[in-house]
Amino acid sequence: MRIINALVVHCSATPPNSDIGAAEIRRVHVKQNKWRDIGYHYVIRRNGKVEVGRPEAQAGAHVSGHNADTLGICLVGGVDSKGRAEANYTLEQYETLIGLIRQLKGFYPKATIKGHRDFPGVKKDCPCFDVRTWAETVGLGWTI
Ligand SMILES: [Zn+2]
Repeated sequence: MRIINALVVHCSATPPNSDIGAAEIRRVHVKQNKWRDIGYHYVIRRNGKVEVGRPEAQAGAHVSGHNADTLGICLVGGVDSKGRAEANYTLEQYETLIGLIRQLKGFYPKATIKGHRDFPGVKKDCPCFDVRTWAETVGLGWTI
């Protein structure tokens, strides 16, 4: 089993009315980026449904330099209609994210919870909210 040190939250950087899921993201990552599979391990759709991406046993392609020991979770949304960063996730998505993180922390108790933008050198807003503060607020806690 891989050692997982962090659960990394991402966004798809799509507007709220874009109802995409793992299949659409996989298509972009494989066809355009020429990756072998979708970069994320989980995708949470606008309706809160979780879709499985790359198998957990395999390193993803979601945070440069930190793929070997992390899992990537992508929330669909994250920009407004003009492409500006916006934490516009649905209540269902946040609820599902809490449940998924709880479940994953059961398997990987030492994993911290981070946003993509919390890694050094990342120049994106992804996932467009402060994941650490959010995790503490909803009682998930985190360790560094
Ligand atoms: Zn990201």
